[in-house]
Amino acid sequence: MKQAFLLAAGLGTRLRPLTDHMSKVMVPISADGMPLLEHLIRQLKDQGVRRFVVNLHYKGEQIMAHFGDGARLGVEIHYSDESAGLLDTAGALRHAAHLLDEEFLLVYGDQLHNYDFSALLRRHHETGALATVTLKRSDLPANGDLAEIEPGSGGHIRRWFGRPHGITEFSENLYLNTGLDVLSRRILDEIPEGRPVSLDREVLPRLVAEGAPIVGLPGELEILDIGTPEKYEFAKQWYTRWQDARPRVNKALLLDRDGTLIRALPRGEYLTKASQMELLPGVEELLARAQDLGYRLLVVTNQPQVARGLLTQAELDALHDDLARRLGRRIDVFYACPHVDANGCGCRKPADGMLRQAAREFALDPARCWMVGDSFRDVQAAQAFGCRSAFLRNEFNAEEESRVQPTVTLERLTELLPHLDTAV
Ligand SMILES: [Mg+2]
Repeated sequence: MKQAFLLAAGLGTRLRPLTDHMSKVMVPISADGMPLLEHLIRQLKDQGVRRFVVNLHYKGEQIMAHFGDGARLGVEIHYSDESAGLLDTAGALRHAAHLLDEEFLLVYGDQLHNYDFSALLRRHHETGALATVTLKRSDLPANGDLAEIEPGSGGHIRRWFGRPHGITEFSENLYLNTGLDVLSRRILDEIPEGRPVSLDREVLPRLVAEGAPIVGLPGELEILDIGTPEKYEFAKQWYTRWQDARPRVNKALLLDRDGTLIRALPRGEYLTKASQMELLPGVEELLARAQDLGYRLLVVTNQPQVARGLLTQAELDALHDDLARRLGRRIDVFYACPHVDANGCGCRKPADGMLRQAAREFALDPARCWMVGDSFRDVQAAQAFGCRSAFLRNEFNAEEESRVQPTVTLERLTELLPHLDTAV
């Protein structure tokens, strides 16, 4: 599975006033301010999804401005424009047919979960279904559409009960549809074009009635809707608890940008144009090898030019999009501190705020991480965070080196390769 369709067009009416100025999928879900849709993209990327299609209607320009083409998150994002009118779930898929693969996941952009799609995909491949839908019982039957499975059939759905169905109790083989699906492209032929069409209320019920291969996979899964202010508050708390409770086992290369990934400019010159970025020798080899070994690749950069008014956040994002593409979309995330020392923030290196944020977001074990940089600030940030540090020498930084004691000192980035941990 390489592709997911993310439903992001909704108006978010019940979440007003929060959604007066913001798409529902862009509401912050983490304490660090990460939008819900970004969580979903990162979580799906962790499961091997690299291409996304996002449909846009309400405040779509915000979504595009935040994610761009996905390069900064190491993925590819395409957009399907529904500004002319909302098309509902299936209508949205039909409209985006030219962007969709032979199979793809369907995920609501306004639902929070950490669902592992591997069993659903396995079931889909085993059965050759048009659609394989996740089913659960952890909610009241009246709250959704119900699917009845044919016993001993590998999950074939024989009856579908759309709301309102009047059913108040689950019986054997009867489950609630969750809306998380894997779909085969062939199902697009079953969707009428040019009008709003619901997958759950029109297409699936008809296909089930016709005996088409529509399959369900019952399971325990928690899916949180953020549709109302109360549900949104609960979802944020749930997210923080989940983040805090996760075992911190992952490893990462935390990479400074200027003087580490790209050539440092002489003192007094500021990088404002993509044409000024020159990759340093060995960058691509180091990143490729480290990624193969299971390292997350995270850029952690001080960008005081933003606070000084020399660069806007949007211009900085555009530079990072360009750099991400040149690095083969291997970077998982760019963290950039926009402040100057005088702001007293916790993120500007040598403070370790960005590293701690990375640890929360990627479940990092500091002991398994390396911070790579060319400044005393990078080494001190690593020491504050509790990870190892690699100091990259260049013609400017002998004085910086004399101020700190890094774990290793490098003449070239590839000298870090023998120090990398081969255990996953
Ligand atoms: Mg640097």
